[in-house]
Amino acid sequence: MKRLGVLTSGGDSPGMNAVIRAVVRKAIYQDLEVYGIYHGYQGLIEGEIKKLEIGSVGDIIHRGGTMLHSARCLEFKTEEGQLKGIEQLNKHGIEGLVIIGGDGSYRGAKALTERGYPCVGVPGTIDNDIPGTDFTIGFDTALNTVIDAIDKIRDTATSHERTYLIEVMGRNAGDIALWAGLAGGAETILVPEYNYNMEDIIARLKRGNERGKKHSIIIVAEGVGSAVDFSKKIEETTGYETRVTVLGHVQRGGSPTASDRVLASRLGALAVELLMEGKGGRAVGIEKNRLVDYDIIEALAMPHNIDKKMYDLSTELSI
Ligand code: ADP
Repeated sequence: MKRLGVLTSGGDSPGMNAVIRAVVRKAIYQDLEVYGIYHGYQGLIEGEIKKLEIGSVGDIIHRGGTMLHSARCLEFKTEEGQLKGIEQLNKHGIEGLVIIGGDGSYRGAKALTERGYPCVGVPGTIDNDIPGTDFTIGFDTALNTVIDAIDKIRDTATSHERTYLIEVMGRNAGDIALWAGLAGGAETILVPEYNYNMEDIIARLKRGNERGKKHSIIIVAEGVGSAVDFSKKIEETTGYETRVTVLGHVQRGGSPTASDRVLASRLGALAVELLMEGKGGRAVGIEKNRLVDYDIIEALAMPHNIDKKMYDLSTELSI
C-alpha cells in the first residue's frame, strides 16, 4: 500500500476534520501518500481528487464541518456510478479508501468492498446510530449543544412557568434525545425506540403542576414526530401554555468537544493501520473504551440499540 484516499460523505458532523487530519498525518508518518476526495461520492465519480500534505490539514482539528466538503450522490447507488468511482481511484493509483460518514456512506463503502476495493468506514454522524461502536464522532459535541440549549430554555421556562418542548435530531435513533434529556433533567423524553403513552405524559405534567413545579421540559426525538404536534395535543388536553423549540442544524455545527477530537484521532489512525495491514471492508469503532473493527457488511446488519437501563433511569429520576 503506497497511496490512500479519504472522503467525507452524507450529513456532516463535528470531528470529521479531526479524522481527516489523523488519516493524513498517520499515513504520511508511515511514508504513504494521501489524496483527499472532495464532495463525497459525487466528487469521487467526477475525479475531484487532490494530494494532501501535512500542512493541508493544519488548523482544522478544532473546526466543525469537513474541509473535504460533503454531498449526497444518487448515482453512486448504481453499478455504473460505483464503477466510475473505482476507475477514478485506479487512475490516481489510490489503493485504499477511508470513508467518514453515516449509515448511507457505509452502504457506499460496502458496495466498493463487494467490488473488491478496500475501504474502511469511520463513523462520523451526530446521530449515534451506527452499529459496531458505542459512540459516533460528533455525537458528544451535538449533545453538548443540546444541553446548552436546554439550560437556557430552562431559565426562561422557570420565569414564565410554561411547558417547553424541545425537538432534537437523531433520525431514527433516540440517543441524542435520551442522553440530552438525562443530562438536562428533562421531565419526559420521547424516543422512537419506545412507545409513548400520551395519557402518561399528561398525567406526569399534571402531577408536577400540582406539586408546584414551575416548568416542564419535554425532549422529542425527531424520529418520534413533530414537537409542534405534541405541543398542540398537550395544550388541548391540559390548557397549559406550551412553547416549542426545534433545534435543527445548530446541532450539526460547532467546534468538536475534546472527547470527539480524541475519538476522531484514534479512529482515523486505526483506519490507516487496517488498510496498511491489507484489511479492507472494515468498520472501526469504540466499545467499552477499546478500539474495535468489524466486517463492514456484518456491521451494517447489526442492530443499533439504545440503552434501555438509561431510558428507565431517566423516567425514575423525573418523578
Ligand atoms: P449518511 O452517510 O449521513 O447516512 P446518506 O444516507 O445521504 O448520508 O448517504 C450518503 C451517500 O452515500 C449517498 O448520497 C450515496 O452517495 C451513498 N450511498 C447511500 N446508500 C448507498 C447504497 N445503498 N449504495 C451505494 N452508495 C450509497
